Amino acid sequence: MEEEWNLYGRLIRDYDENHTHDGINGERLAKPFHAISKIGLTEDGGSRRIGFSKEEKQVKDLVKSWMEEAGLSISEDGAGNVFGRLEGKDPSKPAIMSGGHVDSVPNGGHFDSPLGVLSALEVVEAWKEIGYQPNHSYEIAIFSDEEGARFNSGLTGSRAMAGEVDMEVQKSFTDQDDNSFAKVMEDIGLSEESFAEAARDLSGIKTYVEIHIEQGAKLEEQNLPVGIVSGIAGPAWLEVDFIGSAGHAGNTPMTERQDALVASGDFVRTIHHLPGQVSDSAVATVGKLHVYPNGANVIPGKVSMIVDIRDIYADTRNELTRRIIQEAERIADGFGVNVNHKQNLEVTPVPIDEERKQLLSEALEKHDIKPVELPSGAGHDALIVGHHLPVAMLFVNSKNGISHNPEEWSSLNDIVQGVHVLKTYIESID
Ligand SMILES: [Zn+2]
Repeated sequence: MEEEWNLYGRLIRDYDENHTHDGINGERLAKPFHAISKIGLTEDGGSRRIGFSKEEKQVKDLVKSWMEEAGLSISEDGAGNVFGRLEGKDPSKPAIMSGGHVDSVPNGGHFDSPLGVLSALEVVEAWKEIGYQPNHSYEIAIFSDEEGARFNSGLTGSRAMAGEVDMEVQKSFTDQDDNSFAKVMEDIGLSEESFAEAARDLSGIKTYVEIHIEQGAKLEEQNLPVGIVSGIAGPAWLEVDFIGSAGHAGNTPMTERQDALVASGDFVRTIHHLPGQVSDSAVATVGKLHVYPNGANVIPGKVSMIVDIRDIYADTRNELTRRIIQEAERIADGFGVNVNHKQNLEVTPVPIDEERKQLLSEALEKHDIKPVELPSGAGHDALIVGHHLPVAMLFVNSKNGISHNPEEWSSLNDIVQGVHVLKTYIESID
């Protein structure tokens, strides 16, 4: 794979040079995508750079060398987050920040999300070329362990920076090779203590903007290169247990059963129709379900499941949660079984404010791209930062909506148009 691997060649193949203008250069941008893709390259052409691995660190070091070449001053916090800073004309003004992450899922693609980091860097390269010095300082962030593949968590670096980490929980994590959080930190030259001290005074940052692949196909359906994220959904996990009575599948008459799975089946089907009743962007999913005792000839006595409930607005998401609980109780009643529920995860969603959406919309129009808004169902570092600062997000067209997969693809034409919009937006708020 290593010999014939040429992401640069694939990116550049159908690149339209007309997108190279105003200092932004597609050919220059394709090169670092290629260089990063070789680190953690998998047999089937994907990328494997687990959070806090040596591969993630290797990419950070590589990007740091590029940041230095671009004249940025580099700093790194105790969670391994990397910041490259370009001093503005007025250093007393809070900085504008943009970035992403360079870790991946175990067999991911090459765009989620070197795209965020490299786009932010290309803006600096463009400014150098056109002789633009921003009024505000500008910082490029590489957040650690966004995907959370190491400890089944996620958004780790941005949570550390924002002071949103419960250290007791963090310290209790072990990875799949049974390494403790402390050991994992040590292996890359960090520690539990340094991690706990990564929280940063966010008053030095004015706003954060992130560009990411869509991970859906709405832009592709409308043949658009770039779109405006209307909000970032925060997940709520509702654990629901239906409790009936286990019994012999042969000897218990149908009329005398308390079958927890029959009730659960009705519940799962009902949930499917509820999100549309509260909001256009709400979704609910049962992806994890355990049947007890799980025997072929035993009536299910208990079913335990997680309902993943999301929306970009807290009030509609909470309303959806309320309706789901109400339905669980109604259905349990109807089937003569009991139901228990417990919310065990709740992340506050971040709707993007009107002013920022308007500025992004103007930036898109300036580049002759029809502005459309779409919600992000997936979490991003911008979700965490958005709990503390105004944030904005752009999506770039992803082919067939595929992500977290070696097949993940965004064309260089779409990526470069995204960088143009990003640059225009940053200049408009500078
Ligand atoms: Zn990502």
